[in-house]
Amino acid sequence: LLQLFIPLGFLGIVYRQIKYAIADMDLVFKLLERTPEIQDRPTARPLRLDQGGIRFERVDFHYQPERAILRDLDFRIEPGQKLAVVGHSGAGKSTLARLLFRFYDVTGGRILIDGQDLRDLTQDSLRAAIGIVPQDTVLFNDSLYYNLAYGRAGATRAEIERAADMAHIRAFIESLPDGWETVVGERGLKLSGGEKQRVAIARAMLKRPRILIFDEATSSLDSHTEQAIQQTLSEVAENHTTLVIAHRLSTVVDADRILVMEQGRIREQGTHRELLESGGHYASMWELQQREGGDAVVLQGASGEN
Ligand code: ADP
Ligand code: MG
Repeated sequence: LLQLFIPLGFLGIVYRQIKYAIADMDLVFKLLERTPEIQDRPTARPLRLDQGGIRFERVDFHYQPERAILRDLDFRIEPGQKLAVVGHSGAGKSTLARLLFRFYDVTGGRILIDGQDLRDLTQDSLRAAIGIVPQDTVLFNDSLYYNLAYGRAGATRAEIERAADMAHIRAFIESLPDGWETVVGERGLKLSGGEKQRVAIARAMLKRPRILIFDEATSSLDSHTEQAIQQTLSEVAENHTTLVIAHRLSTVVDADRILVMEQGRIREQGTHRELLESGGHYASMWELQQREGGDAVVLQGASGEN
C-alpha cells in the first residue's frame, strides 16, 4: 500500500510513525488512509454501486504542473472484466491505480464508476468499494488476526476466516503454534513474500469489493509461488471488475483487454490475440520473450519496477 499509493513526502511520515510511534497504531491507519490533498466536497454523496463499470475519460494528470504524467488517457473496464496494464517502469501504471483510488484528483478529464465522477463522491464510500493488493504488503507488528482484520473495520471473526480461506492462507495460519495470535512483522514471525501477498489478498477480500486492483509483484517470488498466487488472484477476481498492473505474461494473456502504456499514453490496446495480430510493440516484446524463453516478465524497465 505504501509504495503504490502514498505520495513520497507522506511516505516518510508514515515510516517514522511505524518505526517510532507504534503505540498509536490507529494514527498510522488514519495516515495510511487519508490524503491531505483530497477533500470531500460539501455536496459529496456516497457511491451508488451498480455493476462496477469504470471509465477513464480523456484523463490528464501531473504531480507537478511542469511535468505531465498521464496524457489524454481514454479507456473503460466493463463490469466484471479484467484489464491488464503493461509498460516500462515510469510509464504511469501505478498512477492509474492511485487515481482510481482517488489519492489524487485528475488534472483533466474525469474518472467515472458506474457513471459517477469520483470527485462527486465521498472518499470512504469509494474506497470501501475497491480492494487493493499492493506490490508490497505492509505488515504491522501485531497478530495475524489483527493484520487481516485491518482490511475492514468491524469485520466479524467468521468474515475474517472466510477471507483467509479465499486467499488460501487459513490453513497456514491455523497450523502455527499460536495460530491467529501469532505476532508478525519486524518483531515477530517473518512471512515469506507469497504469504504476505496472501495476507493482502485476504485483506482486500474482506471488503467484498466490486472492484479489485492488483499490482503484481515483480521478482520477489519464486515461480512456483508466483503461479499459486496467480491462481488465487484469478479465483478471487472472478466476477469483479479488475485492474491489474501486470508483469507476467500469464496474467496478460487471459485479460479481457490489455493497455500498453508508454510515457503516460496508451500506445496500443486490445486483447492478447489482437495485439499479436497487429504486430506492434506488444507483439515484438512477446516474440522476444518467446525466443529468450525468459522468466515471462513483460515490458519491464531495466531499472526494475516501482
Ligand atoms: P509505473 O508504475 O508505470 O512504473 P508510476 O505511475 O509510478 O509509473 O510513475 C509515473 C511517473 O510519475 C514516474 O516518472 C514517476 O517518477 C512519477 N511520480 C510518481 N509518483 C510521484 C510523486 N508522488 N511525485 C512526483 N512524481 C511522481
Ligand atoms: Mg508501478
